[in-house]
Amino acid sequence: MRKVSILGATGSIGQNTIDLIKRAPDEYDVVALTGARNIKQLAEDAKDLRADIAVTADPNLLGELRDALAGSGIEVAAGQQALVEAGARNADWVMSSIVGAAGLAPGLEALKQGASLALANKESMVCAGALVKATAKQNDAHVLPVDSEHSAVFQGLIGEDMKAVERIIITASGGAFRDWPMEKLAGATPAQAATHPNWDMGQRITIDSASMFNKALEVIETREFFEVLPDIIEVLVHPQSMIHALVGFNDGALMAHVGPPDMRHAIGFALHWPERRKLPVERLDLAALSQLTFRAPDETRWPALRLAREVMQAGGHTGAVFNAAKERALDHFIAEKIGFMQMAEVVEEVLTRLSAQSGLTNAEMTLDSVLEMDHLARKSADEIIAGT
Ligand code: NDP
Repeated sequence: MRKVSILGATGSIGQNTIDLIKRAPDEYDVVALTGARNIKQLAEDAKDLRADIAVTADPNLLGELRDALAGSGIEVAAGQQALVEAGARNADWVMSSIVGAAGLAPGLEALKQGASLALANKESMVCAGALVKATAKQNDAHVLPVDSEHSAVFQGLIGEDMKAVERIIITASGGAFRDWPMEKLAGATPAQAATHPNWDMGQRITIDSASMFNKALEVIETREFFEVLPDIIEVLVHPQSMIHALVGFNDGALMAHVGPPDMRHAIGFALHWPERRKLPVERLDLAALSQLTFRAPDETRWPALRLAREVMQAGGHTGAVFNAAKERALDHFIAEKIGFMQMAEVVEEVLTRLSAQSGLTNAEMTLDSVLEMDHLARKSADEIIAGT
């Protein structure tokens, strides 16, 4: 039996992972499941999957978790350190699907004990790509992409020579406001931004899809995962979300990955890699689809894409600053303290204010240095929003 853990089990990716695991319960020995606020779901899944331990990120909810699992024999724990320890538990395969930079430290622990890390948590690569890759290398561990675009590129590169790769194109649905008139965007509400036309995802990533901060993170993640030059990475608006990415080669060929918008494909690919196994996803009828459309992204509408290029250019710890500033700007947007278009303004200002400090090189990157830059960027974003 394969030992598996799911960090962020109660979220959208976590639940899709559990769906796949529950279909073949005899193949998996579930070690750790983690969540934050959704104790009911965490306890229910821990019991169903007979996990060794259930962990909540929120220490205030430990009592509730303990009560929900009383008599089950399942260990319980809470807090940041407990999450890190959950990642360090011996497992063959670990899903990293906590949202935000909080997913970095537990994922690094999984790599340190040699597990294959299925990385949905794109923030890990954006904030600390060099550290994640070095940790994997030192421990002979694999990092497998779970973002649908990166899984698509990964699959498109199987058996290929990276020297022949000319372009990597990742697609974007354009999110909730793709066709809104520009002048309406300033007044867009969090509830409006949290409605995705194609994908059913967590609230934060759905809003990040509307602002294209999600795509900006994915562009940086592409550079880190595949170690390509920033200028060969392109973003293409594709409203139907059927083609997830394309790889272009030096003979002019473009290899596209086509599939329905169902994360169980990318999760299942990472779960069974290097094998391909049957997965419970819809088989596409291309004749019924009939129309796939594409357009270039407008960077006035989505300034996050321009910022992503600047972040890649600057390198070092700039990814950690970008992500943390974005997370804080998003918190303030959700709390209705700033408008939709102000998120990018705040992030740009934080990048400017911290440009001198974020220039530390990749070789100087440690978990502490990344967390320090993350902290400074959050503080700076708060100050900018408070007008100080
Ligand atoms: P959700 O918001 O649905 O789930 C997030 C998970 O993280 C939940 O288990 C949540 O617990 C937990 N969590 C929240 N805050 C913290 C914290 N501070 N510390 C520890 N755990 C926490 O997110 P998604 O599943 O949508 O996304 C997860 C990650 O995967 C993100 O990085 C996202 O960008 C990426 N991703 C998601 C895709 C999708 O289709 N959803 C596609 C590709 C990538 P609880 O719910 O109990 O509060």
